[in-house]
Amino acid sequence: MKTKRKVNVEFKKVETLPPLNKMDDNVIYISDKYGISEHKCLCGCGFRVAVPISVREWSYKVDCKKRLSMYPSIGNYQYKCKSHYIIKKGVANFV
Ligand SMILES: [Zn+2]
Repeated sequence: MKTKRKVNVEFKKVETLPPLNKMDDNVIYISDKYGISEHKCLCGCGFRVAVPISVREWSYKVDCKKRLSMYPSIGNYQYKCKSHYIIKKGVANFV
């Protein structure tokens, strides 16, 4: 897979996820308590993308430089943009 575009992402640990209009662009909000993370689609379309965090679903890790990686990739095929990206070391690679 070839990377089409790269977007830098940050993350914020929260207890309760903020409403969409309070979410910043390119920030992944993670609630360990509720096992869920959400962000605005990183393509810029603004759709809310919910990613469940659990052993059977997605997992994430943060390295010593506070860069977020998520596994597996995130495919927003249900949205018009159909974006698909892999977040690795703080960068979303669009594939
Ligand atoms: Zn999108």
